[in-house]
Amino acid sequence: MRILVSGASVAGPVLAYWLTRHGFSATVVERAPAPRRTGGHAVDLFLPAVNISEKMGVLPRIEERTTGVNRMVVHREGARRPVRVDLSRIFSVTSDRHVEIMRDDLSEIYHDATRDDVEYVFGDSITAISPDGEVRFENAAPLRPRRRRGWAALQRAPPRLR
Ligand SMILES: Cc1cc2nc3c(=O)[nH]c(=O)nc-3n(C[C@H](O)[C@H](O)[C@H](O)COP(=O)(O)OP(=O)(O)OC[C@H]3O[C@@H](n4cnc5c(N)ncnc54)[C@H](O)[C@@H]3O)c2cc1C
Repeated sequence: MRILVSGASVAGPVLAYWLTRHGFSATVVERAPAPRRTGGHAVDLFLPAVNISEKMGVLPRIEERTTGVNRMVVHREGARRPVRVDLSRIFSVTSDRHVEIMRDDLSEIYHDATRDDVEYVFGDSITAISPDGEVRFENAAPLRPRRRRGWAALQRAPPRLR
């Protein structure tokens, strides 16, 4: 079965990775013209996300690019002194595992881990999916499922991922 995923940031490439591991063929459509390289914002990965990234074999790359932020200093105009927050203590009581990374770095790592097995279409967007499975895009020509139970079948019977 072919699975169409919308968005190539974080969730899209991770979903596509696991779908292909379980025998599905995945296409990810992303409206941005290319993988984003603007940095984004910091994303904190806690135990489940760290474990999933480890299973995907990308944890060493994520750790290489960690922001390493473990202290926050808040300055307020007029206050006598800044407030210092030890973030590492908050992280350690929140979860057994934690890595902070910029969102676009994370997206790039997941994209790199999937680019050989997943079809990526940048600069496009899904505009409609008909009940018989035909998908319409903003730019590309419509796609029809190869068999009758194509895209539409997934909406009724999602596969169970172990
Ligand atoms: C300031 C800030 C801090 C955050 N901190 C954390 C954190 O610490 N931990 C955490 O887990 N999360 C955090 N988040 C949330 C974090 O952004 C999301 O967890 C993560 O980016 C979600 O990934 P995503 O792939 O689901 O969505 P997004 O990263 O939002 O990506 C969606 C993608 O879909 C594309 N897209 C959208 N519409 C279409 C369309 N119609 N067709 C094709 N492509 C489309 C977009 O261009 C984008 O690339 C934070 C968010 C913000 C704003």
